[in-house]
Amino acid sequence: MNGLMMQQPLLISSLLVHAERHHGDREVVSRRVEGDIHRYTYREMAARARRLANALAALGVKPSERVGTLAWNGYRHMELYYAVSGAGSVLHTINPRLHPDQIVYIADHAEDQVLCFDLSFLPLVQAVAGRTKTIRHFVAMTDRAHMPADPKIPNLLCYEDLLEAQDDHYDWPEFDENTASSLCYTSGTTGNPKGVLYSHRSTVLHTFAIALPDALNCSANDSILPVVPMFHVNAWGLPYAACMTGAKLVFPGPGLDGKSLYELFEAEQVTVSAGVPTVWQALLAYVDANKLKFSSMRRTVVGGSACPPAMLRKFAEDYNVHVLHAWGMTEMSPVGTVAAFKPQHLALPVEERYTVMAKQGRAVYGVDMKIVDPAGRELPWGGAASGDLLVRGPWVLSRYFKGEGGDPLRGGWFPTGDVARIDAEGYMQITDRSKDVIKSGGEWIGSIDLENIAMAHPAVAIAACIAVPHPKWDERPLLVVVRKPGAELTREELLAFYEGKIAKWWTPDDVVFVDAIPLGATGKMQKNKLREMLKDYRLP
Ligand code: ADP
Repeated sequence: MNGLMMQQPLLISSLLVHAERHHGDREVVSRRVEGDIHRYTYREMAARARRLANALAALGVKPSERVGTLAWNGYRHMELYYAVSGAGSVLHTINPRLHPDQIVYIADHAEDQVLCFDLSFLPLVQAVAGRTKTIRHFVAMTDRAHMPADPKIPNLLCYEDLLEAQDDHYDWPEFDENTASSLCYTSGTTGNPKGVLYSHRSTVLHTFAIALPDALNCSANDSILPVVPMFHVNAWGLPYAACMTGAKLVFPGPGLDGKSLYELFEAEQVTVSAGVPTVWQALLAYVDANKLKFSSMRRTVVGGSACPPAMLRKFAEDYNVHVLHAWGMTEMSPVGTVAAFKPQHLALPVEERYTVMAKQGRAVYGVDMKIVDPAGRELPWGGAASGDLLVRGPWVLSRYFKGEGGDPLRGGWFPTGDVARIDAEGYMQITDRSKDVIKSGGEWIGSIDLENIAMAHPAVAIAACIAVPHPKWDERPLLVVVRKPGAELTREELLAFYEGKIAKWWTPDDVVFVDAIPLGATGKMQKNKLREMLKDYRLP
């Protein structure tokens, strides 16, 4: 017997309709590429998204066709999020930090029909425009007054002109909730990038889950500033969660340096933020150097790479900001786990609470996870052993766009490529990515643990640990370190810092000091590049 409840498809447009109707006066504030601060309300945003949907239809964009973006976090990008998906087309957010050749590859692979871009990316668009095969229209996301005089892109359209030519009557169509809504390519450290195609259903379910109190904890009373870019797995879902909950949204645009971020945090009384550890490092350096405090910020979501314990401690002790350590990946929409406390943790001594917070966390409802040994046998929770981490759930990918790479699943589970432990309470802790694992004498050494220790040293700005060949042990850990400006630190001092903190045989064999560690398009350390840089290195 079926239940007797209404059949309403879970559609992204319903989030916008809800925000307009129930939180119409709530603000969306953006630092614009044009240099000023723009503010309007969800009511105005919804009206402009409807105009934009009309404009895209007038350009001939059909359901299921892809519309690409090369844009910062801002209100026009937000309008595209809702207009494109809401109309039944597919929003393809492109990471502008990728190499132009890769951008051409993914725009062609996605068969983008339209490309909308912020003016900062004009040179990039000029470099790729003549090379892409399917893009029919290029749209500069600005107004007439800021249109470039000689854009060198034939028939370049102006975003604000397109909107002005339309009215704001548009009925969001109803269709199957399994319809594709957006497309995001993985950064592809090996081989070509692969497309992850989200659906309306997967997106709305993911939004429900991440908004929950023990996940990212979003509410109508929050002012949310996603530092994580809208081209990096949909800013971890915050543009959707903000509409679902009616939170104020604050977009930093291109201003991602410590000073610009801090000013926006304060001016807009931001309560929650989210980003990768490298961004927070820059922000903390700025507030530290200028002896500033956060007057409203209470929580920040840190993910994308492991949050060094030294960072979450600093946020808590110096700034009274609670770090929510989260883990996920493009293939998971992205959120899988969040290190939120359970009641038994609340009474723990502070040091033990930091240990819980430093783990990647427990599964949010909707995500199931397990760890397996090399033979695929499930490993118990609570043991010391780590294994390959597998996940499944309604917002986990089932296959890549156009079937690239074949069937990615193993017995109905998605292998994440991460190596992890799960404790008896269900808190997962990543010890490595499988391709970064250091195998010494047949045993794994967790590079993340070694990096976290180095990063707790006051003279270390950033540290990466990679495997280097060893005649007896196969591989041994090498620590690559960038010192803080003006700081002095020797190899011996840093290695001594490991004493008592870790099994002796885990201690790195050597330390190499460098000026910079290569970061990828989403701010992660690129260990493959680092291994390449140090390929001639030999252990002492
Ligand atoms: P890519 O896989 O191309 O790097 P993603 O943004 O999808 O791009 O990254 C997902 C990966 O990032 C995860 O599989 C994991 O290795 C790493 N990651 C994400 N969050 C964390 C975290 N909190 N701690 C450690 N690693 C993380």
